[in-house]
Amino acid sequence: MTEPLEPVTEKDRRDELAANLEAVERRIGDACAAAGRDRSEVTLVVVTKTYPASDVRLLAGLGVRNVAENRDQEAAAKAAECSDLPLTWHFVGQLQTNKVRSVTDYADVVHSVDRGRLVTALSSAAQRQGRELDCLLQVALDKEAGGGEAPAGAGRGGVAPDAVLELAEQVRAAPRLRLAGLMTVAPLAGPFAGRPGAAFERLMEISRSLRTLEPTANMVSAGMSSDLEEAVAAGATHVRVGSAVLGVRPRLR
Ligand SMILES: *Cc1c(COP(=O)(O)O)cnc(C)c1O
Repeated sequence: MTEPLEPVTEKDRRDELAANLEAVERRIGDACAAAGRDRSEVTLVVVTKTYPASDVRLLAGLGVRNVAENRDQEAAAKAAECSDLPLTWHFVGQLQTNKVRSVTDYADVVHSVDRGRLVTALSSAAQRQGRELDCLLQVALDKEAGGGEAPAGAGRGGVAPDAVLELAEQVRAAPRLRLAGLMTVAPLAGPFAGRPGAAFERLMEISRSLRTLEPTANMVSAGMSSDLEEAVAAGATHVRVGSAVLGVRPRLR
């Protein structure tokens, strides 16, 4: 794997991150203004996957308070190195049940809850650790035509829209888990491929039906570097931005 060109000094890197953050901040602000929303309605979650703990530290110094990771092994080490920082850690990757105990050690919010077995595992880990965990159900909008829960290891994970409320009931019934809302990644296939705005509108529709069940489950995590404007326009409360802040990631295996 070739290393990306990194700025040489820590100050260079800080300047680069500051400039990128400012640009993203401007995009979110403009998108809020265009949608008639208050800027405070949208939380920026910076996705730091593949980037080192030193970047997380610089980001915290620049005022970032929410960071996200998608792989437990990398996240656990980074969170441990950064445990002195005032950060909320979000887990946004596909989660295997055997990683749950580790993830609940550092994560405050899990965005990728997509099956009953995971709910059970998260709840027992949270009980064992005596802590409360915010859970978002990851919705797979390319599974619109039914099909129930995501088969293990399939695609990017996520529960089919028609199975969301059933899974929501499971989270609600699980000790130490708080049903916080929904998350999605704009699908690459199916009717929403290439239409992030329409995908996020659909997520908002599902969010409205979720809130008839649980009015406080009002988090909507949607939008990344390429489609945060569409997400803010639709009503997202959390945007997950990686490359626009940290730079384009080296290709993963
Ligand atoms: C990597 C990742 C992001 C950020 O993507 P960018 O395109 O780099 O902004 C957001 N959400 C999830 C689930 C991710 O894995």
